[in-house]
Amino acid sequence: MIEIKNVYKTYDKQKYVLNDVSLEIEDGDIYAFIGHNGAGKTTLIKSIVGILPFEKGEIFINGIDVNKNPEESKKTIAYIPDEPEIYDSLTGLQFLNFVADAFDVSEIDRKERIEHYAKVFEMTEHLNNLVSSYSHGMKQKVIIMSALIHNPKVIIMDEPFVGLDPKASIILKQLMSDFVKNGGCIFYSTHVLDTAEKICNKIAVIKNGEIVKAGSRDVILKDESLEQVFMEIYGEGQNA
Ligand code: ADP
Repeated sequence: MIEIKNVYKTYDKQKYVLNDVSLEIEDGDIYAFIGHNGAGKTTLIKSIVGILPFEKGEIFINGIDVNKNPEESKKTIAYIPDEPEIYDSLTGLQFLNFVADAFDVSEIDRKERIEHYAKVFEMTEHLNNLVSSYSHGMKQKVIIMSALIHNPKVIIMDEPFVGLDPKASIILKQLMSDFVKNGGCIFYSTHVLDTAEKICNKIAVIKNGEIVKAGSRDVILKDESLEQVFMEIYGEGQNA
């Protein structure tokens, strides 16, 4: 569970790019986070995962305050950034072991998880190759595998479908669905509205740093598509 309570963030001490943001992501939720470029999605995501400090408010991951207990809160999070960084000079397997070491994952658990996810993402025969030889999509797959290696309870993703081929997208959607069925929760930003409409049960829309809609997908959409709801909020030609 993620609790975001009245969060304010400014980069220049003049304008809040997050302005009194509150959201609750419960276990079992796939929560889509929608908004124009510059609306504040990445800033909120980085605040949740403890990369960016924020001025006011509180964020809790399964009851753990991300400001007061950053290390503890990170242990339960899988964070998949929009521009993943991965070391080109390592093999995929070396990178996964490096991340597993950082999270103190036992040899038995890491072996089992690496084998499982390598199979799921059809990466088994590529893991001994250097990351520098991977396509963008393959790097993305290894990043997703690395984010799951410590058996997190919460997944936070920034634009996870960018760069994935159709098959990898389908696999990721299935993985997301299985993850929340097993009691986890997922919060992810996206511009891919038709996918969000299909896979999520909750939606938040952010505009100019403020949450303008949040809650159950069915209540927000009623008889409309997410595209229609988005256009009603943002309007033709408007920017965030
Ligand atoms: P989104 O992810 O929705 O595209 P961001 O969170 O990246 O939006 O950006 C929100 C606002 O904060 C934008 O106005 C952006 O220009 C500004 N911003 C983002 N990162 C920085 C930064 N490092 N320094 C100053 N301003 C920033």
